[in-house]
Amino acid sequence: MAKLTVSGLTKTFGGFTAIKDVAFEVEEGEILGLIGPNGSGKSTTFNCIAGMLNPTAGTVVFEGRTIGGLPAHAVCRAGIGRTYQIPRPFHNLSLVENVALSSYFGQGKDVTRATAWEQAQEALSIVGLPTDPAARTDGLNASALKKLELARALATQPRLLLADESLNGLDHGEMDQAADMLDRVRRERGITIVWVEHIMGVLMRVVDRVVVLDHGEVIFDGAPEAAQADRKVVEVYLGTDADAEVA
Ligand code: ADP
Ligand code: MG
Repeated sequence: MAKLTVSGLTKTFGGFTAIKDVAFEVEEGEILGLIGPNGSGKSTTFNCIAGMLNPTAGTVVFEGRTIGGLPAHAVCRAGIGRTYQIPRPFHNLSLVENVALSSYFGQGKDVTRATAWEQAQEALSIVGLPTDPAARTDGLNASALKKLELARALATQPRLLLADESLNGLDHGEMDQAADMLDRVRRERGITIVWVEHIMGVLMRVVDRVVVLDHGEVIFDGAPEAAQADRKVVEVYLGTDADAEVA
């Protein structure tokens, strides 16, 4: 059985259909890249899975349990962690406190202070941020804020991680670092990952498979190498680059 099965997922806003009949599966232990140009429906798909949006139609099944339509906190407690594209940490709390909050509230069980702190420090060390209780959020750059965002998601002890990893604003070294980090989370923690991203290059190196969206519909599902050679994907997704190269 797949870890996550999305079928017939549709979301309309008024008369506008943002995603239509989106279907894909995520296998246990896999890193799936969900890619597509701006406005293709990635965030909408992501938010319908994570419970930020209520799907208009379709089902989302996680580990055999229907979660489509559950509110975000219930999805989180069911075992799906997520990162936000725009990090919004609590600036009046320390780094450890920020992450410990996720440990406290993100799991479907009571957590002691000691466990929350321990899980927070573990999550911080996975992403390479200081575990020192005195460390603050002030002065963290874009790259460090993304690490904090990932640490907060990891502290909820997810079995599936939805990473809205928008690499916008990171330099090449930082993008590579972000890719390596997700790869390590998968390898060392056995967490299944769906990585939503519109920059294709870096992602292709670590994902096992890609699902490509265009205008709210899945136009490709398969190996990264095959995606880069697929005519439809090249046209809609890489079209401008390919044209530029030809020109
Ligand atoms: P992506 O994340 O791939 O850039 P989105 O899922 O954010 O795309 O958006 C898909 C389409 O749905 C876009 O045309 C966007 O303008 C539209 N859309 C997204 N959210 C809303 C909303 N809350 N209300 C109306 N239209 C929306
Ligand atoms: Mg988006």
